[in-house]
Amino acid sequence: MSRAPVQESSVEGGLDACDVRHLRRAIALADEGRARGNRPFGALVVGGDEEVLAEAFCNTSETGDCTCHAEINAVRMVSARYSRQQLAAATLYSSAEPCVMCAGAIFWSNIGRVVYGIDAVSLRVFRGERLDQRDAELSCRDVFEASPSDIVCVGPALVEEARHSHLAAWK
Ligand SMILES: [Zn+2]
Repeated sequence: MSRAPVQESSVEGGLDACDVRHLRRAIALADEGRARGNRPFGALVVGGDEEVLAEAFCNTSETGDCTCHAEINAVRMVSARYSRQQLAAATLYSSAEPCVMCAGAIFWSNIGRVVYGIDAVSLRVFRGERLDQRDAELSCRDVFEASPSDIVCVGPALVEEARHSHLAAWK
């Protein structure tokens, strides 16, 4: 896979070259899920040693299960396989800012760091005003800050790339 050069704008949010690569993978997963008829969201969990522990995309349309967001799917995969200690050193990369449900799951999993692409506020432009597409307007940071663990949260990042997945994806 060829890697595009890291641009100033993507580094300023505290991302290193590995972060950029993993976040781009999360965006690619969003597009994979979208190609299968789901909402365009992707996520992966990377361990402290840079090993990819899980990859997932949102598959709510395929499953009919409203909880099958990309981050939840990824958390379910790693939570059963890795210890809370291992997950404390892990980073979850998400193509979009985690919703309140996913932020809660990230907290329970003990994953120590989150990096996301498009922010929830920008995403609402795509969601529109349709009630069944609107999200709860509570930031993932509010959930993390209310939790007893120190969850590092980085984002929005690579917003232009991340928003591309959503063009014409919401009606
Ligand atoms: Zn979610």
